[in-house]
Amino acid sequence: MQFIIGYLFFGFLPLIFSLVLWIRRQKTDDNTSNLENRLSAVESKSDVVINAIDDGVLAISKDGNIELINPSAQQIIGWDQGDALGLNWKSVLKLVTSDGKDVEDLENPIAQSLSKNQPTHNDKLFLLTSSEKRILVSIVSSPVGTDGEGIIVVFRDITKEKAEEREQAEFISTASHEMRTPVASIEGYLGLALNPATAHIDEKARDFITKAHESAQHLGRLFQDLLDISKVEDGRMKNNPKIINVNEFLKDIFDGLATKASEKQLNYIFMPDIIDEGKEKSLQPIFYANIDPDHFREVVSNLIENAIKYTPSGEVVVNITGDDKQISVSVKDSGIGIPAEDIPHLFQKFYRVDNSDTREIGGTGLGLYLSRRLAEAMSGNLRVESKYKEGSTFYLEIPRMSSSEAKQRLEFGS
Ligand code: ADP
Repeated sequence: MQFIIGYLFFGFLPLIFSLVLWIRRQKTDDNTSNLENRLSAVESKSDVVINAIDDGVLAISKDGNIELINPSAQQIIGWDQGDALGLNWKSVLKLVTSDGKDVEDLENPIAQSLSKNQPTHNDKLFLLTSSEKRILVSIVSSPVGTDGEGIIVVFRDITKEKAEEREQAEFISTASHEMRTPVASIEGYLGLALNPATAHIDEKARDFITKAHESAQHLGRLFQDLLDISKVEDGRMKNNPKIINVNEFLKDIFDGLATKASEKQLNYIFMPDIIDEGKEKSLQPIFYANIDPDHFREVVSNLIENAIKYTPSGEVVVNITGDDKQISVSVKDSGIGIPAEDIPHLFQKFYRVDNSDTREIGGTGLGLYLSRRLAEAMSGNLRVESKYKEGSTFYLEIPRMSSSEAKQRLEFGS
């Protein structure tokens, strides 16, 4: 809710400011006292709004001078209006990195917004106050007008917000970590109870235990995903790249999930040929990549498992294509497909498509979010093409390593 209000607010502020600047300009041209009164009424209303805002607001002219600074901005930065007005923004709004280094123009959202006349948003930089205190701020810069008349900068101290986010993430991470072990043990014992080789149970008990086993598996998956997500988000997820033959590695993951596909009697197809390069010339190129194999396995398993899960009948096809620079692993299914309006939200945390096709299928809505983050950690990308009721294709794109370099480095163990 806070975010929605924030964004609405950030969205409307430039409009209010454009209006104030326009009114100021119009007033000098117009002699009609009636109109002037009306305009000045609007202007003072806008002033009331701007002065009442909790966020710092600055209006900066196209040549970089401060034209307006609201009371909150004065309080946050520690500059008086009288001192700040007319000065270049750089002497008032000093942005630094987390280790206190000055921010170059190319990385500075305000400088970029001014020079390119484009909106910018940043919540990773610190503001140096007049007393040299460093505070983490969220900064939104919006251009006024289309021909670079200046910009409006709105900023907010987010130190407390970020600390709360961190605490929340730590709590989720610890809780998932603590709960994953007992859940894995429950899952294991239920599995043993269901296995005719280790236990004898009657049909009724089998039915109950099967349901308990499925729920324990779901819970285990949820905790594991939450744990992985908290690691990715706070930078604890390790990235240990190794040179892998993607064709072979992919085939291994594919084979590992074959039982799941055959349980649903799906046509489960692996397209690339696996050919021993030493013996035969292959038409299918062998792709090598220098990536973390665990990340790759996690993403591809997620995609294949989803393809199987969301395909009631038909086929799941896994393939690799690519060029000199990039490898594209595709997982295609002829399943329920995804409505166009859901596609933009698919990679968001906890997002699940909610319709009559998906309601009966269990899931957490975390797999694709995590997969995209892992794809990015491999300097790659994850995207989807889908048609509702016809099927979906997910593409994992990762950088390719040339075969000659890969073989050489594999040979010399570097
Ligand atoms: P879940 O645990 O719900 O499967 P994911 O993050 O893996 O979570 O996927 C998010 C949502 O995307 C799913 O709930 C489902 O609605 C949709 N989805 C993912 N993969 C497919 C697919 N292959 N076909 C149709 N819908 C899919």
